[in-house]
Amino acid sequence: MEEHCNGNSEAYAKIPKIKFSKLFINGEFVDSVSGKKFETIDPRSGEVIAEVAAGDKEDVDLAVKAARFAFDHGPWPRMSGGERRKIMMKLANLIEENLEELAALETIDAGKLFKWCKIIDIPNSIDLLQYYAGAADKIHGSTLKMCNGQYQSYTLREPVGVVGHIIPWNFPSIMFFMKTAPALAAGCAMIVKPAEQTPLSALYYAYLAKQAGIPDGVLNVVPGYGATAGAALCSHMNVDMISFTGSTETGRKVLRAAADSNLKIGEICMAGSRVFVQEGIYDKLVEKLSVMANHWVVGDPFDPSAQQGPQAHKGQYEKVLTYIEHGKREGATLLAGGKPIGEKGYYVQPTIFIDVKDDMRIAKEEIFGPVMSLMKFKTIEEAIERANSTQYGLAAGIVTNSLNIANTVSRSVRAGIVWINCYFTLDPDCPYGGYKMSGYGRDQGLEAVDKYLQTKSVVTPVYNSPWLILISS
Ligand code: ADP
Repeated sequence: MEEHCNGNSEAYAKIPKIKFSKLFINGEFVDSVSGKKFETIDPRSGEVIAEVAAGDKEDVDLAVKAARFAFDHGPWPRMSGGERRKIMMKLANLIEENLEELAALETIDAGKLFKWCKIIDIPNSIDLLQYYAGAADKIHGSTLKMCNGQYQSYTLREPVGVVGHIIPWNFPSIMFFMKTAPALAAGCAMIVKPAEQTPLSALYYAYLAKQAGIPDGVLNVVPGYGATAGAALCSHMNVDMISFTGSTETGRKVLRAAADSNLKIGEICMAGSRVFVQEGIYDKLVEKLSVMANHWVVGDPFDPSAQQGPQAHKGQYEKVLTYIEHGKREGATLLAGGKPIGEKGYYVQPTIFIDVKDDMRIAKEEIFGPVMSLMKFKTIEEAIERANSTQYGLAAGIVTNSLNIANTVSRSVRAGIVWINCYFTLDPDCPYGGYKMSGYGRDQGLEAVDKYLQTKSVVTPVYNSPWLILISS
């Protein structure tokens, strides 16, 4: 494998100056009430990029108060869907104008490859905004005929109110818009708690949202830790709904906090890294993967030739290395990688384990790093059964030339999305979310707007109302 970790990033791209590091509440950048800050770290070097204001309960209180006021009295939920659409389109344009800078910001904060941020993370965020901007003026209720024939009725779809969005570090920009864009289209006001490892792009988006004309208080961003800012948001009585993406363990805490307060909706999601390979092609694939791993370029995420950057933060880096040790100890064979790279930063070799058994930790738990586990199977039925014998079910992929196998597997695997002869293909129009412990609720797709809306029934008699007769006589 080629290692380029100590490349000179400045040679590849302009490293952005950090412009926004305070909380964004009610349209202003402000310090935290306690004055506390936390460091956000560049995973390429382990060095501090910026000190960011650390939100806690008092700051969440202020942000919720601002959002509550914006929702209860402000223009955003009251303006026409068409007006919200125009403002959201303007925000999408502003992001496009600042694409290079936002991509670089995401790269230094999350260690994502710069070339991918420019063609995937930031453009997909723009797509999400434009998609849901288009939905903002197409929110309809239905007309009801009613069983008893005396009345007619219709439903109105109204925004749920103040929403708390809790976001993980793996896709800071895409997750930000996967959650905020449908909620904005619906007319909600919101508080975003970005992951403590990757708060910078969210603050930049808050700034651009104000430039685009999103009214103060509608979109607040409160960076901080999960146990402080995140927990305060989940248990706040004035938050009507929580939308959460992160680990299952945290998802449980979020649901518990929601149940103990005013019953909001939770949503959790996870991804897996188990690869089942049919016995006839197993050896050949192992050979090919071994060659690929040896040519895989790990390096500075600004380096255009890099195929893999650093892990996003130290905790994740250590977690990945610990899982690799579990794999070795439990008897899996290391085909490639298995070690950290370089003296500084959080780089890990692309790692492939073969002869992995279903009950090993690397096969059962989510690693969220460059670690692949290969498992051999004989029949399709066996592969389906083993693929389903996990507590998770966010996504699955099938590689086959057989239409029958593709149809059978895609209908049998219990996962929220199944990719056939492709992988990780996401689109704003395609709902995304997990089965089983990978959560409930869906992001993306038109149905995602629905979760930020609630239904009101309006009923009136078709013929002379007995009430009117009563009043007029
Ligand atoms: P990951 O494995 O993606 O780091 P986490 O579930 O730890 O997953 O984090 C996802 C998001 O949840 C982050 O923004 C984090 O700060 C937040 N979070 C962590 N703990 C809590 C909590 N107790 N309550 C609310 N949010 C939390």
